[in-house]
Amino acid sequence: MIPLEGVIPSYSPGQFMFLHFLDAQGASVIRRPYSIASSPNSPYLEFAIDMVGGQMTGRLAKVQAGEILGIEGPAGHMVYRNEPHAAFVAGGTGISPFMSMLRVIAEKNLQGRFVLFYSTRTKDHVLFSDELDALQKKHTGIKVVVTLTREAPDGWRGECGRLNHEMIAKHLPEAKDFDWWVCGPPGLVKAVRDCLSMLSVDPKRLRLEGWG
Ligand SMILES: Cc1cc2nc3c(=O)[nH]c(=O)nc-3n(C[C@H](O)[C@H](O)[C@H](O)COP(=O)(O)OP(=O)(O)OC[C@H]3O[C@@H](n4cnc5c(N)ncnc54)[C@H](O)[C@@H]3O)c2cc1C
Repeated sequence: MIPLEGVIPSYSPGQFMFLHFLDAQGASVIRRPYSIASSPNSPYLEFAIDMVGGQMTGRLAKVQAGEILGIEGPAGHMVYRNEPHAAFVAGGTGISPFMSMLRVIAEKNLQGRFVLFYSTRTKDHVLFSDELDALQKKHTGIKVVVTLTREAPDGWRGECGRLNHEMIAKHLPEAKDFDWWVCGPPGLVKAVRDCLSMLSVDPKRLRLEGWG
């Protein structure tokens, strides 16, 4: 979470910001996009960033409190606009834009059905786990399906294995009546697009964002 002094730029749930490292003159030396996880109503911007040891993440891992970073944005068209039948598919840190969306849905108590499919490696990789449980309790229209791709721990009550069309249909037989947002590694985005096509989801109802 990066506290900002002053005004938070207004943004829609699903958008991203560019973060910049700056040189001594304030010019950008590294710039990368990151999806915003916080609700637009929050007094801060929150990001979930996988520290992959690259140019940006290598420096972010060592960032000190008080260090000044630049932000630019918002940007991106994968936004949520209060659609009442909304299904989200996240892979890894692709959960970020959907946290923003689900937080808004719960804050506004929007009426409808909202289903999140969240694919991640292990139970320890589930981000926002407690908050996702709390969101489901707070808002009865929200349902979260987590699938673990690299383990099947004892007592785990979620799904295991890669997301496929059978898993989607099991939890959301009315898939074709929903709007869909998919965010994560390009391989997952393509696989889910194919699954949704098998489930007769109209491609016009899909918003896709692949990265990682
Ligand atoms: C619209 C958009 C939104 C994004 N939102 C997020 C977000 O919310 N959280 C987030 O963590 N990232 C997000 N990314 C990815 C992010 O912008 C960077 O690409 C990522 O943090 C790596 O940057 P880097 O400078 O550290 O790595 P680079 O120096 O660019 O790459 C270094 C090496 O790391 C590899 N690498 C890069 N990314 C990954 C990865 N995810 N896993 C494994 N290896 C990798 C590269 O292939 C390369 O070999 C987003 C990207 C886009 C386009």
